[in-house]
Amino acid sequence: MTAYRYRADVLAQLWSHGVQPGASTPPELVHDFVNDLYRYELRRLRDRLVRGEIPKPGYYARVVALRVKYPLVSLKPHEWLAADAQGPTPKAGTIPSMVPTVQSKLPSSGVSIFATMTRLANEHGAINLSQGFPDFHCEPQLLARVARYMWAGHNQYAPMPGQPALREALALKYERVYGRRYDPVTEIAVTTGATEGLFSAITALVHPGDEVLLFQPAYDSYVPAIQLSGGVPRFVTLRGPDYRIDWDEVRRTISPRTTVILLNTPHNPTGMIWTPDDIRELEAVLQLTGAFVIADEVYEHIVFDGARHESLARYPAIAERAVVISSFGKTYHTTGWKVGYCLGPAAIVAEILNIRQWITFSVNGAMQLAYADIVNHDPERTSVTAFYQERRDLFLKLIAGARFTPLPCRGTYFQLLDYSAISDEGDMDFALRLIREHGVAAIPITPFLHDGARAGRVLRFCFAKRDDTLTRAAERLVTV
Ligand code: PMP
Ligand code: GLN
Repeated sequence: MTAYRYRADVLAQLWSHGVQPGASTPPELVHDFVNDLYRYELRRLRDRLVRGEIPKPGYYARVVALRVKYPLVSLKPHEWLAADAQGPTPKAGTIPSMVPTVQSKLPSSGVSIFATMTRLANEHGAINLSQGFPDFHCEPQLLARVARYMWAGHNQYAPMPGQPALREALALKYERVYGRRYDPVTEIAVTTGATEGLFSAITALVHPGDEVLLFQPAYDSYVPAIQLSGGVPRFVTLRGPDYRIDWDEVRRTISPRTTVILLNTPHNPTGMIWTPDDIRELEAVLQLTGAFVIADEVYEHIVFDGARHESLARYPAIAERAVVISSFGKTYHTTGWKVGYCLGPAAIVAEILNIRQWITFSVNGAMQLAYADIVNHDPERTSVTAFYQERRDLFLKLIAGARFTPLPCRGTYFQLLDYSAISDEGDMDFALRLIREHGVAAIPITPFLHDGARAGRVLRFCFAKRDDTLTRAAERLVTV
């Protein structure tokens, strides 16, 4: 067996990259491996340059630094070996070891801003108006029903597409509330929260190189899902204070490669809602493109001031190429249960099911049955609309004396507040200072933005909170 004796300086270099060749590891093999590491880092740098995260001069400086970090790639493999390369034959059983390195498929996504701000709020004992979840209980009838179904034995895998009773209930609800009849067997899928529905729908429809048109600020789960499918996100920017859609920009952004238009109404984080005019514009745009539509409608019942939720399910010409996605988490104060659903044409839903069966394949059965009862009992769920409008109005009243300026909030349980009368800081810095110095946690908008778009001086506050939480937070906000 050939034994290789590597130069000491080469070995030290290899060790610094986490590579430990044994005496029987051919240098050609290790060379390829190190070359891959080098090219991977170079590719990441290039991606950051393209995304505008580093300027050109900074990019070149980093490329040079990378050459310095990897001097080995410019040597030929045989030059790595000591002059008397043929050392002693290694003992039988010596295993050549090379430590593998993880190559992230999502190198630029860190921990979500929601988890980050909630952690900081807990660390600083701040009042948490950041991550969107209620700090009050869900309804006792819902708990009682889940318990009853669990005691009745619904504790094993539920059918993969969802409990038939829940899909029937959703079919009836959509017919009654939005006027479209979806086939409960072929056109409705229950998912592990809207997040899994979105992920499966994007994975089902987006192929490498396909473009997805979406609106920013964009909810954080969209872009990673697009990227994992090899898709290219193309953004249309919504601008404050109204965050209305610039339809000319939409028309300019559509291309022959646009495969999906991804929208969210009511919109997190801005509170903007789609109007009948927006729907008409979308209908016109769809005549120019073969794109599908994915609509994230998780806040479907949280729409204020008498406005109507413009579900795509209401519009046959759009609905026949659209996936509508929603979640029980928002509507029933149960974000932690993670039950959501998708509705759409049978061909798309079949592909969504095909994909999601390899992710979680089955959703908590007892909870599905409980939701089925409660949806059948009250499909319109108008009480939650009134409930959150009161929360919004209470929050606005409580902060009326503050130097924050509220932006229009037409839906969702988030209120944007403009702080430009208080500070020139960027939103990330200001959000951190608000936690540390004033004990209130909110969400900055920058993480919802891409391609260098700027957030402006606004933060998002969640008002899905008890009176006393909102009151204590407001007492602090009026002193900022
Ligand atoms: N889309 C939007 C716009 C959201 O705000 C959220 C959650 N807050 C989701 C999707 C995810 O919903 P779920 O918790 O049901 O996965
Ligand atoms: N959607 C929730 C929000 O916007 C958070 C969900 C999450 O933590 N990923 O705050």
